[in-house]
Amino acid sequence: MTSNNTQNEPAMTSNNTQNEPVTWETVIGLEVHAELATETKLFSASPNRFGGDPNTYIDPVSLGLPGSLPVLNEKAVELAIRVGLALNCRIQPSVFARKNYFYPDMPKDFQISQYDQPINVDGWLELPSGRRIGIERAHLEEDTGKTTHVGGGGRIHEAGYSLVDYNRAGVPLIEIVGHPDLRSAEEARQYVAELRSILVAVGASDGKMEEGSLRVDCNVSVRPAGSNRMGTRCEIKNVNSLRSLGLAVDYEARRQIDLLTSGRPVVQQTRHWNEDDGRTHALRSKEEDYDYRYFPEPDLLPLDPDPRWVERIRRELPPLPRDRRIELARAVPAADAGHIALTVERSMDGMALGAIGGGATPERVITHIVHNLAGGSGNLTSEALAGLVAMEDAGELTATQAKKVLSVLVEQGGSPEEVARSLGFEAMGDDELETLVDGLIANHPDEWSRFRDGDTKLTGFFVGQVMKATRGRADGKTVTQLLNTRRRCPPS
Ligand code: ADP
Ligand code: MG
Repeated sequence: MTSNNTQNEPAMTSNNTQNEPVTWETVIGLEVHAELATETKLFSASPNRFGGDPNTYIDPVSLGLPGSLPVLNEKAVELAIRVGLALNCRIQPSVFARKNYFYPDMPKDFQISQYDQPINVDGWLELPSGRRIGIERAHLEEDTGKTTHVGGGGRIHEAGYSLVDYNRAGVPLIEIVGHPDLRSAEEARQYVAELRSILVAVGASDGKMEEGSLRVDCNVSVRPAGSNRMGTRCEIKNVNSLRSLGLAVDYEARRQIDLLTSGRPVVQQTRHWNEDDGRTHALRSKEEDYDYRYFPEPDLLPLDPDPRWVERIRRELPPLPRDRRIELARAVPAADAGHIALTVERSMDGMALGAIGGGATPERVITHIVHNLAGGSGNLTSEALAGLVAMEDAGELTATQAKKVLSVLVEQGGSPEEVARSLGFEAMGDDELETLVDGLIANHPDEWSRFRDGDTKLTGFFVGQVMKATRGRADGKTVTQLLNTRRRCPPS
């Protein structure tokens, strides 16, 4: 944790003397906490699980009872190393430290964290744009319990009483501290999306922001564009989705620019993002490291992972999102880079490659994933997706029908042919369709002769009639073709 000694200098003024309007640059650095996907807690054998009745996943260590001793979870260390390697960090010997503060959700009155010797340091993450964002450190620590203030709208000072649930106390966390290299709300959003994809890819976390397994603290400052000094920052808590992250950064940057342009300083603070009013609110003045009275945890040995173990973990790392984007782009050369990124972000690149490998038209596969599978793939398999695309290619399903079949496949699984049949979308035989078209021509001689004389508007009329008669089962393109053949070579 390097403290930046330019931070507390007086409010910046720009060095332009002609009173030109100042262009401001936003500077963002994120601290992301991710719950590690272990079976058990960081220092005890209680389950690491979301939900559950309050205070059921507990034990003397999670409750901080006197005389209980922590035992380090090897799996948590392995996951932390995977994250460190995926973020291009140096893995180094580390020491656990006690971070002292008093709060009821932390029964020991200290949190075991890592301080001046964290396990992972000096890495970087590459955004899909190719920009590299520095990673200062990624260290292990334990999570706290959860306090619920009852009454008074959930705020402590108006609550009638408070309840504490220790199920989360001692859950392993990795805290990933990024350098202040991000320059816009959109870049901050991309950084968290990429980090989440990496955490999910290496199996370190489920990445669910809505369940709190991924939490983002967002440091924002502004400075005149071109300046190489850092502005005074505020740290924003309670940002619970990528959407609120973007909104919170934009609001906070605006607030700071308004202060500075009216000659008032930005005060370094911890602020709270309020989803309801779309603003940040002052929470407290920022605490300093010395407030926490850090000292080495005497109940745990320093951690010095065997380099051979680290090497094995490195060799066994799965392909990372960046590699997967490259592979997918190769399989779908015509696809838009944003669609490729979205497919990987949704972890559906495996599904896409499977379907393409099974012979499906690549562009159609990506279109379905981007436009029709935003809610996840559910019970859909890559074979089923390939089958569905093949039916579309063969003109057996219209785009609307394919979308309906897809949503059933996601919900219930099964094969596209069966689902299409059960929805009444079975393919119409060509014979059946031709008989129908001939019948329509015979029954509508006026329309037919106008069509034959070149009034192409009547195509719509005939296609509409076929659709009505088949309740949408026919393929519009095939009907148009049949009509045109008959115009050139009229039925006898
Ligand atoms: P602390 O000790 O308060 O946690 P750190 O130096 O560890 O401070 O930085 C915490 C986070 O704040 C990092 O993610 C870093 O990128 C970010 N940060 C530091 N200075 C600034 C700044 N001037 N503007 C925006 N973010 C910053
Ligand atoms: Mg910090």
